[in-house]
Amino acid sequence: MPKIKMTTPLVEMDGDEMTRILWKRIKEILIEPYVALKTEYYDLGLPERDRTQDCVTEESALATKKYGVAVKCATITPNAQRMTEYNLHQMWKSPNGTIRRILDGTVFRAPILCKGIKSYIPGWEQPIVLARHAYGDVYNNVEEQANKGEKVYLVIENEKGEQVRRSLVHDFSAGAGVVQGVHNCDDSIRSFAHSCFRYALEQNIPLYFATKDTISKTYDRRFKDIFAEVYESDYQKAFEEKGLEYLYTLIDDAVARIVRSKGGVLWACKNYDGDVMSDMVATAYGSLGMMSSVLVSPDGKYEYEAAHGTVTRHYYKYRAGEQTSTNSVATIFAWTGALKKRGELDGNEELVSFAERLERATVTTIEEGEMTGDLISLYFREGISPKKLNSEEFLYAIAKRL
Ligand code: NAP
Ligand code: MG
Repeated sequence: MPKIKMTTPLVEMDGDEMTRILWKRIKEILIEPYVALKTEYYDLGLPERDRTQDCVTEESALATKKYGVAVKCATITPNAQRMTEYNLHQMWKSPNGTIRRILDGTVFRAPILCKGIKSYIPGWEQPIVLARHAYGDVYNNVEEQANKGEKVYLVIENEKGEQVRRSLVHDFSAGAGVVQGVHNCDDSIRSFAHSCFRYALEQNIPLYFATKDTISKTYDRRFKDIFAEVYESDYQKAFEEKGLEYLYTLIDDAVARIVRSKGGVLWACKNYDGDVMSDMVATAYGSLGMMSSVLVSPDGKYEYEAAHGTVTRHYYKYRAGEQTSTNSVATIFAWTGALKKRGELDGNEELVSFAERLERATVTTIEEGEMTGDLISLYFREGISPKKLNSEEFLYAIAKRL
């Protein structure tokens, strides 16, 4: 069988630890036998980031801007313990943070569903995709302690440095306390809105967006208004043609609706709501190994990855020569997501179809009872007793069906 050809390279960002081991084997066992894989390779493994003073991370993000589609392996974000473990020159920043800063995107996280793997919320039959605005609010805040007797004001200056507005936040004459200043920018909110509307249209799913604008009448209201403007000017017609709903509501109402829903929606969240709710949604669907993630920039660049980390505990076992049973599904779906998108952009139907077949083979493997250890206790299907495979056996079980 001739291999499927690619015209434009994918940006390939290699990573660390157990996911780096899986990365190589996924390519060898599931992709390279069928696709004449064309990638521009960047090694984001920690030793190479350290050697290049982290330039390699920036270069890989710029390459994503150039080519439009990237696939990324999980990477270590260094902390004090990693400084000694890897003998690092510096505590390099999170690669995901760097890539997000350069691409200025929104992160969409979606669970991968298989028959037999039960959600903790039984009504959730379809994926709930969560979009998190990754700029501002409490993540870029200024905060202070206030002493008894102090007054705290919100002061606004014009370009010349003259005070134009001032409002009292609180008079602490009765006792000490704390204050916090947060901000967001219209441009960032607008590009978040565009990313969400575009993603919902592409995936053919309704969009919910929620804030607390009854309480935050200026700040959260701005989010609501910008979403409404963007919707009316650019997307309403397309939503109506497809019969899709855009629903704006209050965050507490959104939570209630989501819990009662069957899934099958895109839920756009402000930064903090997204931080909290994405972990709730991921956990409710079962395993971290079944959650995929894509960063979409406002100008339509895509970076696909698994939502989990480098699975360090399994890597230490692997290095000690022990068997591991690490779930590679989210990493496989990062590859298929990227190959599909590359295929769509290049009009390469064979590539799109291959990616879809690989996804189906992966899901079918689990549905037919062959899976990694993390899924065993979640699996129930009449007449099938689940079989635990090691990391590599699982890939071969998929290859057999592919
Ligand atoms: P993690 O790698 O996601 O793993 C946490 C635990 O979740 C694992 O120990 C394992 O539980 C389970 N798990 C996660 N993925 C799994 C999979 N594919 N198959 C089976 N089990 C899975 O998070 P972490 O241990 O907090 O972080 C490890 C490293 O990853 C850190 O250096 C961190 O900086 C990095 N990280 C990177 C990214 C990214 O690149 N996007 C994201 C998060 C973390 P059991 O041990 O119980 O089996
Ligand atoms: Mg969180």
